[in-house]
Amino acid sequence: MYIETKEIGPEGLIVDRVIEAFQLRLRDSEEIRVGRSRLSGELLKAGGISFSGDIETSATLPCSRCLESYPLPLDLHFNLLYTVRPEHATRTESRVDEERVTMTQFDGGRIDLAALLAEQVYLGLPLKPLCRADCRGLCPQCGTNRNQGTCGCQEARAEDPRLLIFKKLL
Ligand SMILES: [Zn+2]
Ligand SMILES: [Zn+2]
Repeated sequence: MYIETKEIGPEGLIVDRVIEAFQLRLRDSEEIRVGRSRLSGELLKAGGISFSGDIETSATLPCSRCLESYPLPLDLHFNLLYTVRPEHATRTESRVDEERVTMTQFDGGRIDLAALLAEQVYLGLPLKPLCRADCRGLCPQCGTNRNQGTCGCQEARAEDPRLLIFKKLL
């Protein structure tokens, strides 16, 4: 899905698009599912092309503690500036008016919305996703998901070794 730059008039262009669900590849072979997304925003020709807007979507990704996949709603805001300079394929970031604007070089012809979405979702993912704030994780000894049940290991660990000495004495 693309936006042709010639569609952008002197007053700019308002976009509101729905992008179907897709698999997003993270590092290595890890993939997460990104649900149906709504991407809305405004493009303006100003030097390059500025594109600011919002993304409403959700990602299904594994919890960093218990490893169970869970759906995470994402409400993302982006501020991009596309500049036409194909000879420099590098990316820079700079601060403009307190808001972070990401500079992206493109060929000048069209903007790839699927690439924009994939990148913004990637940047918007939490570093340590949690299925819930108080996720109890996995038992380090037997691997039981502590959100779903308890295991014998917890009882053994709860017993203070100093008290065991007293038990022996009794
Ligand atoms: Zn969890
Ligand atoms: Zn256990």
